[in-house]
Amino acid sequence: MAKKDVCVFCGKELSVFSSSLIGCGKTNQITCRDCVKKLTEISEVERCRLALDSGRAIDTDRIQAFLEEQERQERARPCCLRCRARMRVGDQIEVDISPIANPITDILNGHYLPLVPAYCDQCGKVEFFLPEHIKRRQTEGKTWEDGKNACSNGL
Ligand SMILES: [Zn+2]
Ligand SMILES: [Zn+2]
Repeated sequence: MAKKDVCVFCGKELSVFSSSLIGCGKTNQITCRDCVKKLTEISEVERCRLALDSGRAIDTDRIQAFLEEQERQERARPCCLRCRARMRVGDQIEVDISPIANPITDILNGHYLPLVPAYCDQCGKVEFFLPEHIKRRQTEGKTWEDGKNACSNGL
């Protein structure tokens, strides 16, 4: 007799009618209908942690890899200098600096300065970075801060 599927999140035995699937870090986890309702209200990262903690998760390597990638992205976000929250990074913009050009256009080789804005949801601070600095941190996964200047979430 085939082994019955169980809900990854609560361990309940499932029938064809009570089983469902939920996306979890590029995997699909088998879940009961009750858990699905709760799981759609939390973030995918939280779902992945619950799945791994349960010890019943399917494809744990992929979930782990997803969580590591998420953490790497998180670390690449700048930390707000005022309130230490993680800032959101926007898309690159080109700022026309011709009105204030001299003498810095000599240094910048043009009248358009490429900038990447970062926003703090918590205090409203906005600041700008040169694109290469943001990109380098995103690809290398480096943190912005040394220990004493760490973000409030400790990352
Ligand atoms: Zn369940
Ligand atoms: Zn802030």
